[in-house]
Amino acid sequence: MSDHDIDPTSPRMAPKPEVTKIAGRELKPSTLMMGHGYDPVLSEGSLKPPIFLTSTFAFPSAADGKRHFEGITGKRPGGADGLVYSRFNAPNQEILEDRLSVWDGAEDALSFSSGMTAICVLMLAYASQNDVIVHSGPLYAASEGFVAKVLAKFGVTYVDFPAGATREEIDAVLEKAQTQADEQGGKVCMVYLESPGNPTNALVDIEAVRASVDAAQLDCPIAIDNTFLGPLWQRPLDQGADIVVYSLTKYVGGHSDLVAGSIAGAKKWMDPVRMLRNTMGGICDPNTAWMLMRSLETVELRMSRAGDNAAKVCDYLANHPKVEGLGYLGMIKDARQQDIYDRHCKGAGSTFSLLLKGGEAECFRFLDALKIAKLAVSLGGTETLASHPASMTHLSVAEGRRAELGISDNLVRISIGIEDADDLIADFEQALEAV
Ligand SMILES: *Cc1c(COP(=O)(O)O)cnc(C)c1O
Repeated sequence: MSDHDIDPTSPRMAPKPEVTKIAGRELKPSTLMMGHGYDPVLSEGSLKPPIFLTSTFAFPSAADGKRHFEGITGKRPGGADGLVYSRFNAPNQEILEDRLSVWDGAEDALSFSSGMTAICVLMLAYASQNDVIVHSGPLYAASEGFVAKVLAKFGVTYVDFPAGATREEIDAVLEKAQTQADEQGGKVCMVYLESPGNPTNALVDIEAVRASVDAAQLDCPIAIDNTFLGPLWQRPLDQGADIVVYSLTKYVGGHSDLVAGSIAGAKKWMDPVRMLRNTMGGICDPNTAWMLMRSLETVELRMSRAGDNAAKVCDYLANHPKVEGLGYLGMIKDARQQDIYDRHCKGAGSTFSLLLKGGEAECFRFLDALKIAKLAVSLGGTETLASHPASMTHLSVAEGRRAELGISDNLVRISIGIEDADDLIADFEQALEAV
């Protein structure tokens, strides 16, 4: 008898109920990553989910097909269950989304083909003509460009505020945004944050933003790009954010071998974005979703190790005579920033700025001498990366704005990986000798 002949109603083949608690103990995300949202019984006993390479899904009967579309179109209450077409969703992406929700304590999540797809579809879903977006600064350059150049084509304007702003400053910014919206005949449609900011690592006070939005009685979501510290070191939904955004390309994917993105939050905030994703496409592909599930099994291990490594490397660098300073969340000098860190963060991360004594020439000599660390943009991978923002990622930023953002010529951006910490220190030591 082949497996196909086994009665699916027999005890061996019945799907197992999902276990999320044992003796009242809520299971941790790192435990749930090995099985949450997937039952081997439904896939021939395959311990790991197969990759479902299909564009469409068969209905058991014509009546089932009709019922599904009645649900989708709202002709029948309760919505539609099950899968119909892979631009909307598919098994690997659904399991991935269930597991991503676990990390942020979110009700629902959506996966995308890149971090920027996630951000663009999110903003498009909430912005209407003449609306105003309030955002912290600096943002990831492409996010800032999407607001200032693309959404601007549809009459959407923005008001920005520096990442470290206080409650009073945020109140004033929201008031200005509301006035601007009234003048334009629109509304404030989203407060969009990124914390910590790149490359200064300035933190946004999410709790203050929440209090400010509530006090102003704004009916718009607070979204936050949590790529640098999530999902391990910061859970912004706990501080009052509504939507958490990721470039999964970075720490979550974690091996510098894929590009993907996601958003997560309450279902009511996800629904409009899901509808636009259904229309536009942009969902992550099944192979990438499978890779991300493998990555999620080790995300805590990898991030913990990278965080420990970064602490050791920064301890070494902080006392080096050729080092002018460090922009590392484990060594904050500003009391207000430290207060935000203590309230919001569970770890200092592994991406920081190294300020060398000198300028571009000294940085270039340092970067060219590195033997373990690779010279590349991006972050959050298993390998240590280093780059020079002023001449690379932020070259297109006007000089004045660059100075304002603290992107000086003597700044090297470093993302520490999971190599041996003492090997990394030896590499930095010999590269600093070459400066
Ligand atoms: C990389 C990055 C993005 C963009 O993500 P992609 O996956 O490259 O599209 C957005 N925000 C931050 C903070 C990033 O580091």
